[in-house]
Amino acid sequence: MTEIAHFINNAHVASTSGRSQPVFNPATGESEKTVALATTAEVDAVVAAAKAAWPAWSKTPPLRRARILDKFKSILWDRADELARAISNEHGKTHDDAVGEVTRGLEVVEFAVGAPSFLKGEFSENVGTGVDSFNIRQSLGVVAGITPFNFPAMVPMWMFPVALATGNTFILKPSERDPSASLLMADWLKEAGLPDGVFNVVQGDKEAVDALLNNPDVKAISFVGSTPIAQYIYQTGTANGKRVQALGGAKNHMVIMPDADLDMAANALMGAAFGSAGERCMAISVAVPVTDAVADALIDKLTPMIKALKVGPAADSASDMGPVVTKAAQEKILGYIDSGEAEGAKVIVDGRDFKQDMQGYENGYYVGGTLIDNVTTDMKIWKEEIFGPVLSVVRRNSYDDAVALIDQCEFANGTAIFTRDGDTARAFAQDIEVGMVGINVPIPVPMAFHSFGGWKASIFGDHHMHGMEGVRFYTRIKTTTQRWPSGQRTEAEFTMPTLG
Ligand code: NAD
Repeated sequence: MTEIAHFINNAHVASTSGRSQPVFNPATGESEKTVALATTAEVDAVVAAAKAAWPAWSKTPPLRRARILDKFKSILWDRADELARAISNEHGKTHDDAVGEVTRGLEVVEFAVGAPSFLKGEFSENVGTGVDSFNIRQSLGVVAGITPFNFPAMVPMWMFPVALATGNTFILKPSERDPSASLLMADWLKEAGLPDGVFNVVQGDKEAVDALLNNPDVKAISFVGSTPIAQYIYQTGTANGKRVQALGGAKNHMVIMPDADLDMAANALMGAAFGSAGERCMAISVAVPVTDAVADALIDKLTPMIKALKVGPAADSASDMGPVVTKAAQEKILGYIDSGEAEGAKVIVDGRDFKQDMQGYENGYYVGGTLIDNVTTDMKIWKEEIFGPVLSVVRRNSYDDAVALIDQCEFANGTAIFTRDGDTARAFAQDIEVGMVGINVPIPVPMAFHSFGGWKASIFGDHHMHGMEGVRFYTRIKTTTQRWPSGQRTEAEFTMPTLG
C-alpha cells in the first residue's frame, strides 16, 4: 500500500499523524493506496512554510510569476493524458471526460498568465493641485483551497492559478477520495520554477479543514463542495476574520419549451444528465418540459437513448459513463431511486436493474442511467441533490410555472432553457434567480475569463471563482494619495528598459 501524503516547500513529505484512510478505484472497488489525514500540528507547519514564502513571492514582478504559470500551462498540455489517468483511477470518470476537466482547468491558467495586465491599477492625476491618487491590488498572504472529489484537477485550478498570479501563497486541501491529482500538479508547478513554499498540498479530513479555518495566518479560504459544509466553512471562516468564498451543492433544471428543437434538447439532456455519471455540480438533474405533450415526446426520445448508455470503466474507451465515486455514493443514489418510487414517481428507465457485460469490473460502483417521470416538489428526490445518473422529469403547463418551480428550489447554481423564441429566452435570462444560465446550452459553465458561481444555497460569500471575480477575491485594494514638494532629475539612459 502506498500512502499519498503532503507536499510542502517543494518536497513530498510523509505524514506523521498515524491517521489515514483507503483510496479506492471505483471501477474495480479495490484499494491499493491510502491517503494521509493531517493533524492540526501538521497543518500549522504547512501554513508556516507558506507564510515564510509569501514576502518574496508577493514582491516578485507579476510578469515573472506569470512566466512560471505559462511554463506550468505547457507542462499541463503535454501531460494532460497522465493527469487524466490519475483522475480516472480514483474518480472513475471516462478518460475523455477527465481530459476535458484538465482542459477547463488549464484555461484558468491561461487567464492567470494575463495577471500583469489585470493587476494594472488606476491613477488619477491632480486630484488636488500637485496631488495624485492611485490604487493598486495587493495579495492577501497565505490562502487555502478546500476542494471536492468531482473535479480533483479543475476545481483546484479555479483557485490556485489566480491566487498565485496575484502574489498569494497557496495551500490545497484536496478531497480525500481522489488526492493523487493534487500531487502531480504540485510536482509540475515545481518543475515550472515555482519557489519553495508558494504552493503546498496538505491531505486530510475535517481535522485538517478545521486547522486551516482556525489558523490566523490563513487570510482567505476558497471552498467548493456540498451545501452544509460550504455553510460551515463560510460561518467559521468569516467568524475567524477570513475572506471566504464557499460554493455549495446544486439542483439544476432545464426548461424545454413547446417550440424547442426536441432532438437537440434530448441530446443535450443526455450529456448534461449522464456525463460523468451525473457527478457534476452543473449536471442537469431535473428536466422541466412545458406541456404534457412535450413531456411525452421528450420521454419517448430519451428512453431508448438512456437504455443504450454504455456504462463501464474508464479503461474501456467505449464507455459513455463510469462508476460513481464510492460504495456509499452508489448506495445513496440507489436509495434516492427507491424513495422516488415509494413517493409515487414513475421510474421509466431503472438504473437499479442495470446489467451489462462488465468485463471483470463487476465489483465497481456502477449505477445505470435512470429516468423518473411525474416527480413533484414534495418528493425528496426533487428537494435534495442526488449527484448521480438520475434525471427527474417535473411536468409544467406554462413558462411562468416552470420559472416559479426553479425559483422555489433552494439551490441556484445553473439552469437552462431550450426554445426557438428570443423573447422567452431573454425574459428567462433576465428574471431567473440562478447564477449561471444557458440558452439552448445545457451546461453553461463560464469560460475562465468570466467567473463561475451560483446563487442562494449554491454559494456563501460574495465573489464567484476565477475571472475578474477571482482577482478581486485574492487581492485587496490600497489607495495612495501623493504630493511631491520638489522635483527629481536623472541622467539620460540610452538602453532599452527591461523591467520584467
Ligand atoms: P463534500 O462537501 O463532502 O467535501 C468537500 C470538501 O470538504 C472535501 O475536501 C472534504 O474533505 C471537506 N469536508 C467534508 N466534510 C467536512 C466536514 N464535516 N468538515 C470540514 N470539511 C469537510 O463534497 P464532495 O462530496 O467532495 O463533492 C460533491 C459536492 O460538491 C456536491 O454537493 C456538488 O454539488 C458540490 N460541488 C459544487 C460545485 C460548485 O461550483 N457549486 C462544484 C463542484 C462540486
